[in-house]
Amino acid sequence: MPRPLQGLLDYRAAVAGTVPDDPVGCRVRVPLGRGRTIGIVVAERQASAVPQARLRRIEAWLDQQPVLTPELLQTLEWAARYYRHPIGAVLAAALPARLRRGESVQRQEPWWRLDPELVADDQPVRRAPRQAELRAYLLERGGAAPCAELNALEPAWQRAGRVLEQRGLLHRESHPVTGGAGTVPPLPASEPPVLGDRQQEAVAALEAATGFTPFLLEGVTGSGKTEVYLRAAARALERGQQVLILVPEIGLAPQFLERIRHRLPAPVAVIHSGRGGGERSEAWLAAARGEAQVVLGTRSAVFTPLPRPGLIIVDEEHDPSLAQQDGFRYSGRDLAVYRARALQVPVVLGSATPSLESLHNARSGRYQRLSLPQRAGTARNPAVHLVDIRSRPLRGGISAPLEAALRRHLEAGQQVLVFLNRRGYAPVLTCHACGWVAACHRCDARLTLHQSANEMRCHHCGSAVRRPVACPECGAGELRPLGPGTERLEEALAEAFPEVPQVRIDRDTTRRRGELEARLDAAQRGDAQLLIGTQMLAKGHHLPAVTLVAIVDVDQGLFGADFRAAERLAQVVVQVAGRAGRGDHPGEVLLQTRHPEHPLLRTLLESGYGAFAAAHLAERQAAGLPPFAALALLRAESVDAQAPYLFLEGAAQSGHAVLSGSDGGVELLGPVPAPMERREGRHRAQLMVRAEERGGLHRFLDAWAPGLDQLQGARRVRWSLDIDPTEMV
Ligand code: ADP
Ligand code: ZN
Ligand code: ZN
Repeated sequence: MPRPLQGLLDYRAAVAGTVPDDPVGCRVRVPLGRGRTIGIVVAERQASAVPQARLRRIEAWLDQQPVLTPELLQTLEWAARYYRHPIGAVLAAALPARLRRGESVQRQEPWWRLDPELVADDQPVRRAPRQAELRAYLLERGGAAPCAELNALEPAWQRAGRVLEQRGLLHRESHPVTGGAGTVPPLPASEPPVLGDRQQEAVAALEAATGFTPFLLEGVTGSGKTEVYLRAAARALERGQQVLILVPEIGLAPQFLERIRHRLPAPVAVIHSGRGGGERSEAWLAAARGEAQVVLGTRSAVFTPLPRPGLIIVDEEHDPSLAQQDGFRYSGRDLAVYRARALQVPVVLGSATPSLESLHNARSGRYQRLSLPQRAGTARNPAVHLVDIRSRPLRGGISAPLEAALRRHLEAGQQVLVFLNRRGYAPVLTCHACGWVAACHRCDARLTLHQSANEMRCHHCGSAVRRPVACPECGAGELRPLGPGTERLEEALAEAFPEVPQVRIDRDTTRRRGELEARLDAAQRGDAQLLIGTQMLAKGHHLPAVTLVAIVDVDQGLFGADFRAAERLAQVVVQVAGRAGRGDHPGEVLLQTRHPEHPLLRTLLESGYGAFAAAHLAERQAAGLPPFAALALLRAESVDAQAPYLFLEGAAQSGHAVLSGSDGGVELLGPVPAPMERREGRHRAQLMVRAEERGGLHRFLDAWAPGLDQLQGARRVRWSLDIDPTEMV
């Protein structure tokens, strides 16, 4: 059931004869409490512990064929156990909306059919040309056609049709949708480049792999990783197999899909969270039928049925967006590896900046390592420099040396990218007289000034208020914005370079549909010479004309509360820097910092990501942190400040009781306040479980987790257990 029930429920299998041959994996409608719901049969039994009299009946079988294959069901059951999430909720997360609602696997669509009277005689439409056209077309099509087809041919027929329907001369029918639904067709084939030696080696290794073989493909930005995926994918297609490609976000990189469509001669099912439920359902079903040979999707696409699996690819495997952070929390990357094992196919994790987990797996020999150390074609690695801004005045966040560098590149007619991972005008609004700072009432967070909207917004809970005209504290002082956001940066750069066309890409400027594509187009065509943006602009876009990348505030990530802060910062810096000089011109990267001596920055700049990762892995090992330990995080929150602690203290006590009888290797840390103590009006705290190894963690959780529900105060808090947490916030 799509409910947070701990166990499974038994039902009697209705009348013999109506039960499918393969009941496991089929959907059923069953009574539950006073209502009814859609469930999935996960097992068949001859007996039940529930007394006969209380055993309720399945009301209806919604499928005659399982919608979940044994392999997929088994993977989902494993995920439910591993991530300690109710199986019903896990199945609900995996199934597309339409199937979850119990609708038929076969989608229906409306058709129009001519009434026999109108077939026989055109008299009723003689004086209405549109209606006459519609009649003629329908006659050509044997008397009926899908409304969608009619609408695509001639939108005006819709009105004509409705008039005829009212006159009883046209009838609406429902027909199953056929052919091509849920996929996008391939585009004209484009010529592939000649592979470099290292690319060839990587492709050969992938082609030679049989059965479950995990690879880590490590290659600097622009080294041709995508090219390697495409070759390996093409080989799988030739063998008649399906390829699953997971990416952190699809909307942010529309070019990626284009490239796949030009290079792989197969229909592509696109599955992403942002899309309407209907579209995702169609794509999922097209994959299940085997029609979609390529499945491109975000994390939830890891649960797509693949009747003829050949290869799984996870691009940008280090990206935190591959992990689901609420509800059913899971790592799409880790599940991709699990799934590859279940399907017995190779899996490639690719990145310019691999996660420390994957690097560790490659070092220990669990993953086969493939590397592309050079950029493809003629492009060269950019030169990276720090700009010390400790004693420099900034204008809208820009120092004089940075402005000079921008001018140099702009005057040479080149494109520049200015990166700041903070949207809005300014992250702080403060009173010059009394020191008051605009803060969110519901979160431990400051409000960001959004100048053009004249609003103060909280980036954590989404609440917004009008920008105050006077200080609410002293009523006298002047209110000043402190620090830059992308909006302010845009203003400052427009002042400094009034002649240069610029484009800003962040969540605020791309809210409207199609806006991101339009702005990326302007960036790619070179209509905009000065590009300003957040992560959105840094992710995976190919901007060959960019020769200078400026990172306005690298310090943002240096002192994060999360033990992954340093890793994330290094990844962002390298990924953003990777946008520079992808074409024929050499690139330059400038980083503004107040900490030019910071060891992390120094290692990264002087020796690169590999050296940084090696040093940081040693630190993690010394500190007993992942990947040298396994973590679980129990979070609790409540409007009442004490409730989370009460619950977590109880959880810690029961944990210690479990541990007293065991062989050690597991410890409990906390409860402690969450890094953001209050959010959306709730107080938040957490208890960390740290184990020396994964097996020990799960043995402990087996004994401990099932009892959490029963703890005192469990009902007075919202709590969740996060396994292998990727964010500590
Ligand atoms: P990555 O995925 O590692 O960032 P891509 O596969 O996107 O790299 O390649 C970067 C650019 O180099 C693309 O424009 C691609 O078409 C081109 N490219 C890739 N491999 C080659 C090659 N062997 N020869 C020439 N150009 C290549
Ligand atoms: Zn004041
Ligand atoms: Zn808030």
